[in-house]
Amino acid sequence: MNDCGGQKNNCDQPDRLCCSGRENPLDYFDNMICNCLEYAETSKKQGKPIIAIMCEYTPREIIIAAGGVPVCLCGGSAQTIPAAEKYLPPNLCPLIKSTYGYHVTGKNPFMEMADLIVAETTCDGKKKMYELLSRDRPMYVIELPQKPLEKDAFDYWLRQLVKFKDYMQERFRVIVTDDKMREAIRIMNRERKLRRELANLMKSSTPPLTGLELLKLKSSISGINRDLKQYVGIADYLRKQNPESKQNRIRVLLTGVPLVYGAERVMEIIESSGGLVVCAENCTGIKPIAEDVDENKDALVAIAEKYMNIPCSVMTPNKRRIEMLNSLIAEYRPECIIDLVWQNCLTYDVESYLIRNEVAQKASLPCLKIATDYSPSDSERIALRVQALMETAKNRRSLCTRQE
Ligand code: SF4
Ligand code: SF4
Repeated sequence: MNDCGGQKNNCDQPDRLCCSGRENPLDYFDNMICNCLEYAETSKKQGKPIIAIMCEYTPREIIIAAGGVPVCLCGGSAQTIPAAEKYLPPNLCPLIKSTYGYHVTGKNPFMEMADLIVAETTCDGKKKMYELLSRDRPMYVIELPQKPLEKDAFDYWLRQLVKFKDYMQERFRVIVTDDKMREAIRIMNRERKLRRELANLMKSSTPPLTGLELLKLKSSISGINRDLKQYVGIADYLRKQNPESKQNRIRVLLTGVPLVYGAERVMEIIESSGGLVVCAENCTGIKPIAEDVDENKDALVAIAEKYMNIPCSVMTPNKRRIEMLNSLIAEYRPECIIDLVWQNCLTYDVESYLIRNEVAQKASLPCLKIATDYSPSDSERIALRVQALMETAKNRRSLCTRQE
């Protein structure tokens, strides 16, 4: 799961008090897995159910309102894939196989302590993997409509969320009151707002963070008060810093599949090849935090609206992704686009055509598609292609400077 194997007692980085002025507050999230594990263990002892989730469509607010602790289970390790391939076909996306591999090996402590796994009907690979997972683990799968522009899609989705709320009440013998829902919405909105503020800092012509540093500023568990305090401290700290100029680095907009914990390799390659990821339009970046839940509407309706708007490639058509990318380009001023597709992720792979033709071409930005998995075997090849993209973007930059 992480360097300490997810075992807090083996962690060589004891909890550090951060944002105290004594240390770089960014270090706090270096201990993210250990911190989350401690939080989950304490919560469990207090009788709170641990609810594992696997997708950004999962409405965390309903879980929190039901007294649960939502923890992300998406696997980012290549090491668990061979175990998964004993059950799943090899030509499946690495994220699905890695997650299932944790189930087979029992090496994800969060999965082992989960009282329930909540998932949605997103891509085919995930849906079918859930069928196998549900043979051994308690699961609830929310049915997600996939034609968001259809008139009846929203009503259907809302009914699914009502069903899910009812299920949580019955399963955990709680009453999910309107007040509890509203409090959960406030917590999640605050978390999204604080993370958005950090992401917004990357719009600067001298961003205070690298894309990799920003990627690491998030937790596997949502709604931890201590994390929210850290976000405030980190934002204050960064605003007071005089960021070193990263002018020579090429501003990159990264789109496509999520880079879940442990699967940061492509981001590392981009940033060690002269790039700076100023914006990640994916589920580990802007996509799930771009919109809040409207606090002035009926709670469930507002939750349903927010989540239905997530522009994932499992939707058809997925026009919101193109719209979101076009506005992110205006806000973050990237000099090139990198579209990352996990091998055998058909939905993002097919949408790549639209990214090149309806986003990159329109903005006159060089664009590179990278299709890879979790194995480092193609890292050198990817680095060469990224370096070539950086050269193209640099040449374009000098041309623009000369013309000004
Ligand atoms: S990319 Fe799509 S399927 Fe994957 S986590 Fe995001 S919303 Fe869910
Ligand atoms: S990356 Fe693609 S194939 Fe993999 S889980 Fe996400 S949507 Fe499904």
